[in-house]
Amino acid sequence: MHRLIFLGPPGAGKGTQATILAREMGLAHLSTGDLLRAAVAAGTPLGVEADRYMRAGQLVPDRLVLGILEERVGETDTAAGFILDGFPRTVPQATALERIAPATRVISFEIPESRLVERLTQRRVCSTCGTPYNLSTNPPARPGVCDRDGAPLAHRSDDQPEPVRTRLKVYWEKTAPLLDYYAGRGLLLRVDADAPVDAV
Ligand code: ADP
Ligand code: AMP
Repeated sequence: MHRLIFLGPPGAGKGTQATILAREMGLAHLSTGDLLRAAVAAGTPLGVEADRYMRAGQLVPDRLVLGILEERVGETDTAAGFILDGFPRTVPQATALERIAPATRVISFEIPESRLVERLTQRRVCSTCGTPYNLSTNPPARPGVCDRDGAPLAHRSDDQPEPVRTRLKVYWEKTAPLLDYYAGRGLLLRVDADAPVDAV
């Protein structure tokens, strides 16, 4: 059974590849960012607390993220395996995951930082299913509309230059140490993410 972690900086293409691979391999696609955005949209107490961190491009506190992740992993569609997209992002999250459902492989999306700002500011996402598009590299078939479900595309508020800078800084400080963490456990597979979607 595959329990994969997609690890890499914001904009590296984790969501794009997880969407494709989850469908091809019959795995559940678990994005903590999508789960948190749904909580924000629904106005739950968790969403209200998470919102201010997300707007600023900071990480949501571990205790909040672990709660929704553990609940989501317990749903029936994860029985055949899953892809974690955007989790874990800190060492405490990684150690907690070992208790919940240990990963079988960790895919590291490797890409020069200079490519990420453009990818993120040009990103548009489906307002319903979260599928990512890109105005220059990966546009939808019909402008402004999701290919999968026809819902309108949105520009995430944290895909503006200022929160993008914060998110990249946070990645190097808090998340990049997980590369050594998983390499040391023999789980890390490095992938060149600076290539066309099909090649990745
Ligand atoms: P992440 O989930 O890692 O934050 P996304 O999958 O949302 O990243 O991709 C970020 C942006 O880059 C999106 O606009 C997406 O369409 C685009 N993108 C993803 N993969 C590639 C690629 N291989 N080449 C060019 N653009 C890409
Ligand atoms: P993403 O959709 O993965 O780019 O995540 C968007 C935002 O959600 C991040 O900038 C964080 O504020 C928050 N977030 C998502 N996943 C996590 C996580 N595992 N830990 C902490 N914050 C997270």
